[in-house]
Amino acid sequence: MRLPVVFVGHGSPMNAIEDSAFRRGWAELGRALPKPEAILCVSAHWETQGVFLTGAEAPPTIHDFYGFPRELFAVRYPAPGQPALAARVASMLAGFAAAVDPARGLDHGCWSVLVAMYPEADVPVVQLSLDSRQPGPFHYALAKELRPLRDDGVLILGSGNVVHNLGLADFGQDGGYDWADRFDAAVRARIEAGDHAALATWEGLGPDARLAIPTPEHYLPLLYVLGVQQPGDAVRLFNAATVLGSISMTSVLVEADGSTPS
Ligand code: ZN
Repeated sequence: MRLPVVFVGHGSPMNAIEDSAFRRGWAELGRALPKPEAILCVSAHWETQGVFLTGAEAPPTIHDFYGFPRELFAVRYPAPGQPALAARVASMLAGFAAAVDPARGLDHGCWSVLVAMYPEADVPVVQLSLDSRQPGPFHYALAKELRPLRDDGVLILGSGNVVHNLGLADFGQDGGYDWADRFDAAVRARIEAGDHAALATWEGLGPDARLAIPTPEHYLPLLYVLGVQQPGDAVRLFNAATVLGSISMTSVLVEADGSTPS
């Protein structure tokens, strides 16, 4: 069976420990999807020079944020790694000079979502880094090489945010700024239309793009999910909402036709 693929808008790390509609959406998804044999996660919070995979048997939980409550720093997500999968993906990505990092753990983009999706932490997790030197089409092309993993029980999970401008975030605002809602809608329309070329070169999506994507790390994981989409797959958007003015939580489920979770 070909596994679905998911892009999750992760937003605040507090979603790991606080109830919200978004977190409930992640938990529901974890229950509805076929249980994967392993997860390959591409998170906004692992940027590297070059392409790397986590190769640890027991990847530590990384608390890569500041100014949050002690309770959040106490969260551990003890899912095992899967060094064999890391090695396999590195060889699939030999053309991109991918290498294994034997020590790196799981960042909060990854575990803040998985703690809701798979609270038992019983599915092995490997992370794939973002080569921060590379433009959108590089990431999209790299993702295409990962397609065979879907047929081998690996759930590919992208974790970021379509709109992510922390500098302009307004913590008193529930919804989104006009430009944020407009850009998120433009991206959603292109996802639904399958216009991946426009999405891989988001800089051309109009003047809102500069505000919505001041730096690309939160947007890029979306390109990995689109890159492993196959002809005939169904695409479903969920958690489509904008928070704090400048962060969109829009999430995407891509699944082989006929495999809709019940
Ligand atoms: Zn983030």
